[in-house]
Amino acid sequence: MPCTIFCVGHPLIDMQVRQAEDLITKYNLKANDAILAGAEHEPIYEELVRERQVVYVAGGAAQNTARGAAYVLTKPHSVAFAGCVGDDDLAEQLRAANQREGVIDAYQVKKGQKTGACAVLISDGHHRSLVTTLRVAKDLDEGHLWSPTVAPLITSSKVIYLEGYLFTHRPEVSIRLGKKVSEMGKILVVNLSAPYIPRLYSAQIQEIMPYCDIIISNEAEAEAWAVSNNHAEPTNMSLVAKAIALHPKANPTPPRIVIITHGAHSTTVVCADKPDRPKIYPVPSLKEEEIVDTNAAGDAFAGGFLGAYVLEKSLDECVGTGHRLAAMCIGQEGPQYKWPNTRSEGN
Ligand code: ADP
Ligand code: MG
Repeated sequence: MPCTIFCVGHPLIDMQVRQAEDLITKYNLKANDAILAGAEHEPIYEELVRERQVVYVAGGAAQNTARGAAYVLTKPHSVAFAGCVGDDDLAEQLRAANQREGVIDAYQVKKGQKTGACAVLISDGHHRSLVTTLRVAKDLDEGHLWSPTVAPLITSSKVIYLEGYLFTHRPEVSIRLGKKVSEMGKILVVNLSAPYIPRLYSAQIQEIMPYCDIIISNEAEAEAWAVSNNHAEPTNMSLVAKAIALHPKANPTPPRIVIITHGAHSTTVVCADKPDRPKIYPVPSLKEEEIVDTNAAGDAFAGGFLGAYVLEKSLDECVGTGHRLAAMCIGQEGPQYKWPNTRSEGN
């Protein structure tokens, strides 16, 4: 079945827990952060199951974005998601969420392996600290992407979306995919995903950047990129967006678009053809009671943006749809969107 947006990432189930201030202290975490679990964090997953009220929701950055884009596009099977899962109950939960929300799942299933999970620790209402155990999610094989069932989903797509987390393991799979789809004339979108990605995997980001048509990040990731690249003013979002936009690009057209979200603050957009004319988009403010949690707000933004983008909406409308999907996600527990779509987002 053809689709228009093909997303790749680590499929994860989110184990969301509120009032997690004590866990943040116990495991020496930051209130707002995203990390890979080290040995010292591994006990947290069992501790959550044993001692806390856990809300299980479909997660994984690119998978959240896929569901967000599907929400905007309304037509089922417009969006596909590929990633590696185990043959367990968690994978079934993820598959069900994709099916419910109209996303084609193109999972590679590894027998006897466990699906990845992400502890989402909410503190002080709005802050969220993510601790991820990838398990089999890190083992996606390149051969799976080009298998007879999955390759047609790539070749029929207009947009290919890669989460930055992919660069932590087997980065060559994502880099080769990016290069190949760029050569096929598709729009390649990469999200930096977390500050540690441009900080620790800077070389991999550099390698894929020439193929990127659109780069999405939040303010902390953009700053981390700027520091890694010895930028003179790493907290000046307009200048950092310009630097990312002007980084060499393999296909001269379309000019690269760089989008930096910044929570409740304005979103900055720079297009490579007008590098000195950043566009600043204020974020519609949310009332205290409208905020359930900000987990995956950035993923929802990306989903909204991409959905509107493939509908060939203007840049202003794409950002507006991104902000609306983010607000919708913030108003619900975890990365969820109201479904079925009764409103006409971006249409
Ligand atoms: P990430 O989740 O990657 O850290 P951001 O925090 O930049 O991404 O949030 C992405 C989008 O979510 C913002 O551009 C905005 O639309 C929305 N958003 C996030 N936090 C808030 C907030 N406190 N109030 C209103 N909107 C918010
Ligand atoms: Mg943020």
